[in-house]
Amino acid sequence: AIPVICVDGPTASGKGTLAGAVAQALGYHLLDSGSLYRITALAALQAGLALEFAHEQAIADLIPGLSIRFSQDQVFLNGVDVSEAIRTEEAGMNASRVSALPKVRLALIALQHSFRQLPGLVADGRDMGTIIFPEAALKVFLTASAEKRAQRRYKQLISKGISATLSGLRADLEARDARDTSRSVAPLKPAQDAQLLDNSDLTVEESVNLVLDWWQS
Ligand code: C5P
Repeated sequence: AIPVICVDGPTASGKGTLAGAVAQALGYHLLDSGSLYRITALAALQAGLALEFAHEQAIADLIPGLSIRFSQDQVFLNGVDVSEAIRTEEAGMNASRVSALPKVRLALIALQHSFRQLPGLVADGRDMGTIIFPEAALKVFLTASAEKRAQRRYKQLISKGISATLSGLRADLEARDARDTSRSVAPLKPAQDAQLLDNSDLTVEESVNLVLDWWQS
């Protein structure tokens, strides 16, 4: 079977950075599953659909018709570069809203599975190890304190010239965590066989090396 490494965890825990570095080190493909929910939310809003249960079916029905293409650091939706549009805090909150709709989650399963290609895949998200790739050989559940996560997000935004406040970011990420852990479908939780990794006091390199050690052992 084509190997899969799952990296799940809450908002701003560093999943994307860790998954990207591990994929790079191993020469594997990368699935940033959160971006698929971000793109779905964007497409729904573009279609004039509010992100509510009343529109669950209509939003899910958009998915098979979306043309999504990843190319290095860019993401294209129907040929338009949406890399920046999907990275805002608001886009994250919108993604969290559509991701609570069961039919949307179902409609994205096949697309996520299609990323599993030789020589292997590193998949990051909330339910990679629990739902999408339950048979994955290595599952990492990444955590960090809310304070550390808010600080990291703050630095990221400030370095891009985007204004933000630490307390506002922390409130947003705690709201997103609350929604992600309490929803009825695919709530955020570690898979039973996941390795827990708290990176609050680790450098990126230390986390990457730890995961590569787990993978090689
Ligand atoms: O990881 P990222 O912040 O891009 O994810 C955005 C939102 O998409 C998350 O807050 C979560 O609600 C949702 N998501 C999900 N399942 C995944 C990945 C993301 O529900 N596998």
